[in-house]
Amino acid sequence: MNHARELYYGLIRMHVLLHAQHEPIFGLAMMEELAHHGYRIGPGTLYPLLHGLERAGLLKSFFENVRGRRRRFYKITSAGKKALDKARAKVDELHRELHDAHPRKIADA
Ligand SMILES: [Zn+2]
Repeated sequence: MNHARELYYGLIRMHVLLHAQHEPIFGLAMMEELAHHGYRIGPGTLYPLLHGLERAGLLKSFFENVRGRRRRFYKITSAGKKALDKARAKVDELHRELHDAHPRKIADA
């Protein structure tokens, strides 16, 4: 994984949770949505990410047949909603400081 991706990996997770809160998501559609936002994420990255979120209890998967094919969907859990709300507050806070011309000074020069 490259360094830039490591930096925004958490944002991608948040993005997945955000969409899973509004509708059941599946891998391919989520990859297209992330590409729409400028994240080039392949299945080798996205599927482990989805499985990791499910292991953490933030997503729950289920299977459904779509035009004769079995597809795995994910929806957010109540723990996932709580985590997303907390992360949203942190991103809002970070967003303010990122755009602040004079971030809080943290060390005496
Ligand atoms: Zn989106």
